[in-house]
Amino acid sequence: MLDYTKKEPYERTALRVNPAKTCQPVGAMYAALGVHECLPHSHGSQGCCAFHRMFLTRHFKDPAMAASSSFTEGASVFGGGSNLRTAAKNIFEIYNPKIIAVHTTCLSETIGDDLNEIIKSIDIPEGKFIVHTNTPSYKGSHITGFSNMVGSFISYLSVKTGKSNGKTALIPGFVNPGDMREMKKIARQMKVPFTMLPDTSGVMDSPMTGKFEMYPKGGTTVEEVIELGDCDQTLAIGKFSSEWGGQTLQKKCDVPYKLLSMPIGITQTDNFVMALQSISKAEVPYELEEERGQLVDILIDIHPYTYNKKVAIYGDPDTVIGLTEFVLEMGMIPKYVLTGTPGEAFENEVKGLFEKYGMKDCQVKAYGDLYELHQWIKNEGVDLLIGGTHGKHIARAEDIPFIRAGFPIIDRYVHSYMPLVGYKGGMRLAELITNALMDRQDRDSLEEDFEMVM
Ligand code: SF4
Repeated sequence: MLDYTKKEPYERTALRVNPAKTCQPVGAMYAALGVHECLPHSHGSQGCCAFHRMFLTRHFKDPAMAASSSFTEGASVFGGGSNLRTAAKNIFEIYNPKIIAVHTTCLSETIGDDLNEIIKSIDIPEGKFIVHTNTPSYKGSHITGFSNMVGSFISYLSVKTGKSNGKTALIPGFVNPGDMREMKKIARQMKVPFTMLPDTSGVMDSPMTGKFEMYPKGGTTVEEVIELGDCDQTLAIGKFSSEWGGQTLQKKCDVPYKLLSMPIGITQTDNFVMALQSISKAEVPYELEEERGQLVDILIDIHPYTYNKKVAIYGDPDTVIGLTEFVLEMGMIPKYVLTGTPGEAFENEVKGLFEKYGMKDCQVKAYGDLYELHQWIKNEGVDLLIGGTHGKHIARAEDIPFIRAGFPIIDRYVHSYMPLVGYKGGMRLAELITNALMDRQDRDSLEEDFEMVM
């Protein structure tokens, strides 16, 4: 499909071709699904809402429930206020959520709907809530939308009573339920009481019970979101997806936050464990030490296959930074590193990693697209491609081994249950990477070189 991509890169400022991101509401909707009994609501046309739901449903293979203000031509001219008022009434009556989390769309942002004022004019049933966030998609990405929605839950709901609840607020970033489960497992092992916001485990990876559940068991409860104001500190995982939530809680409720990188690979998982230890002062349990030792052992074993192999990595900024550091720990060369989300901090962070590991001639770009990445690869190839499904056309056109990691992965199954974070996540990544390289070696070897033991 991409066999005809031109090799010569040229300057493009206004146009993205095959973007490495999607629109803000997708992230806002995902964050909202991580609150128990929350119905995400897309303030715009049904088409937008269908797209947001489809994107999440295809990745998680679980239905993403959401409502829409169902804009038609009238709302575009006169504003969407009456649509949202009617929608809220219907939603509370028919679907009975505890909370509705509204995000805007390109259209409602362009016509200038004032969501604060509209929500104030809604008759909200007692004990129920409506929150909103602004998610214009001509700015940022789904990661910005996720981060905005997390901040909005906090600024609408969290309250400081002045009495500590002894907990840590854990903002996990835009990751799969499998990653959230792994982070929670480590926090429990480190004896840190916590509230995770959002928590899509149990919602987007809910078990088959034979019964339709509009609101599955998982998710952060509204009460827990309110009580975040009484936490002692926040661990915000990932600058792009979680820092805004940490800052909002600090500003509103005086809860200090510590920013951590996504705990992918050894260094960043160590940092996560150490941050938890500085809170609880608990000993690192042997189970965690054992997992770390196993990961180190694996990296030594696979070193002959991964050393000096060139990789191109693309996707969401926090995940890509984590993957870049991990491949460097594996002795690989992150030749091209790219995210579709804008933000200078991404390039600075990745350049810092290049410098730390003595990498020369590696390229990084924020707010890039997969077309440009493909052009770079055409000029100098790589041994492996890592990212979401949209890169598969590049992998096919250039005949490069490809592993799927990040978001969205729409052409494979089970991935969202399996963590990339923590030492366990490192083991899984190491397995995926090595096996992709070894499969390639098997495929390309001559008959006389084809060996059982490689
Ligand atoms: S119009 Fe905007 S909000 Fe709607 S799907 Fe497209 S980019 Fe997303």
